Amino acid sequence: MAQLEIVNVSKSFGKTDVLRNVNLDISSGEFVVFVGPSGCGKSTLLRMISGLEEIGAGHIRLDGKAMNTVDPAHRGVAMVFQSYALYPHMTAFENMAFSLKIAKENKGVIREKVEKAANILRLEHLLERRPGELSGGQKQRVAIGRAIVREPKVFLFDEPLSNLDTELRVQMRAELIQLHAKLKTTMIYVTHDQVEAMTLADKMVVMNGGVIQQCGRPLDLYDDPDNEFVAGFVGSPR
Ligand code: ADP
Ligand code: MG
Repeated sequence: MAQLEIVNVSKSFGKTDVLRNVNLDISSGEFVVFVGPSGCGKSTLLRMISGLEEIGAGHIRLDGKAMNTVDPAHRGVAMVFQSYALYPHMTAFENMAFSLKIAKENKGVIREKVEKAANILRLEHLLERRPGELSGGQKQRVAIGRAIVREPKVFLFDEPLSNLDTELRVQMRAELIQLHAKLKTTMIYVTHDQVEAMTLADKMVVMNGGVIQQCGRPLDLYDDPDNEFVAGFVGSPR
């Protein structure tokens, strides 16, 4: 059985249909990348999975359980944003510890989990710094660390590298691949960048206008695109 099931999901804002009949099964451990032009509904879909946005129509189930029946804090998903969304007055350690503190974990456990995440992300020497004293890449690693400590079943990434310069983006892609190999947790990743999607995805989902155009392994989409949009988007030769 699929770990995450997206069944006939649609969403409108007023008269605007943002997503139409999105269907997708995601297996445990898969690295799934949603890719498509700006405005095609990627963030809206991710926000519905995370609970930041109400599901319009249809169902999203994690391990067979409808997600909208579970409080967002206990859904087993953790989201990483493009804008980092770190607390500016807190240190890197405190930022990573925050959700555990809210969940009333004991101090020793919190320290252990934060240090483990810091080790994975090579942040050990930066834990006492505040976001203002960190580079963009370091801030994004803290934001990823904050998700890791929650030990989610599914990571949700919304264009996490879009604010970084090209060189750093390439480096962070490699780090994300390593992170996935290490944790083996399901990752759902949204980007408008075709190269990023091709590099990261086990399964690539090409969207346009609120509709899934095609879904499959990146090379299969490249070799055998279903339509002109997919061909153009993944850069297939014609
Ligand atoms: P993407 O992440 O692919 O760039 P979004 O999911 O952010 O796209 O947005 C898809 C469409 O929905 C856009 O046209 C956007 O303006 C619209 N939209 C997103 N959120 C809202 C909202 N809260 N209210 C009204 N329209 C929205
Ligand atoms: Mg978006």
